[in-house]
Amino acid sequence: ASKNGGRNRFSYFTPDLQAAASARQNMGADLRAAIAAQQFEILYQPIVSLHSGAVYKAEALLRWRHPTRGLLGPAEFIPFAESNGLIGQIGDWVFREAARQAHAWQAAIDPSFQVSVNKSPVQFRRDADMYEGWFGYIEELGLPRQSIIIEITESILMQGADQVLERLRHFRAMGLQVALDDFGTGYSSLSHLKRFDIDYVKIDQSFVSQLEVDLGDLALCEAIIVMAHKLGLKVVAEGVETEGQRQLLLAAGCDYAQGYVFAHPMPAAQFEKMARESLR
Ligand code: C2E
Ligand code: MG
Ligand code: MG
Ligand code: MG
Repeated sequence: ASKNGGRNRFSYFTPDLQAAASARQNMGADLRAAIAAQQFEILYQPIVSLHSGAVYKAEALLRWRHPTRGLLGPAEFIPFAESNGLIGQIGDWVFREAARQAHAWQAAIDPSFQVSVNKSPVQFRRDADMYEGWFGYIEELGLPRQSIIIEITESILMQGADQVLERLRHFRAMGLQVALDDFGTGYSSLSHLKRFDIDYVKIDQSFVSQLEVDLGDLALCEAIIVMAHKLGLKVVAEGVETEGQRQLLLAAGCDYAQGYVFAHPMPAAQFEKMARESLR
């Protein structure tokens, strides 16, 4: 708008857009400060073996303890971090923190313990050098590489598939595991399961929430599970909130589940206690 200059400067800027623009600016400044002030925290949600109830995996879920707005979930700030170029730094912090925690839990919970880390599509495309730093950090910790699962969403697979394939192959070649998150949403295709080099499929919670009442959703979940297993992949169901859903997924042969019926995302200390109890 400022290009026009003069008295018509804000002529096509509604008050709403102005407010949104200034909120975006504040958010950018706040986010930058947050990195320096270490206001980010990770909550961990158990990924539960449906068969045994044991917990050998956790998903790392990012939170921002904002000085005035309280504890914020990723939806409230990740999009800003992506458009402000700050997602790289934040993602780097999350990865290292998750790796450090995986290392600690291999001693405290079980030697095979894994931590699953979400990766922004934006970050997946950029920041190629960062990955070398990550492999170095894992090495430093003495952490087996398969201790880390990288979660990417299906939408990544739609953009620049060759480059994405290359990067996935690199991750797998380095020994990390890969999960396809939110499966079934967006432009999902069963052929992705074959074409891309992955270890886990995570069935999106939108297919899980109506499992007990929608036979179509049940059919979809069953089909995804059968297909994934034939391709040698493990399946995680997301957003399992009821005992009925848990039973249907178990009967359908689903391997793992996450959701409020088991536990909400929680601080590391509380998680450790819960996981240890699950293995007794
Ligand atoms: P996601 O990876 O699909 O994570 C699952 C989301 O479902 C989490 O929301 C979790 O708290 C929530 N959830 C877990 N169990 C249940 C349930 O039983 N019912 C319902 N309704 N929800 C459940 P959260 O923590 O708000 O995270 C939202 C999204 O933000 C994540 O979706 C992920 O895409 C993204 N995210 C989280 N942490 C990071 C991160 O470190 N980096 C990036 N780039 N994205 C992240
Ligand atoms: Mg995830
Ligand atoms: Mg998901
Ligand atoms: Mg999601």
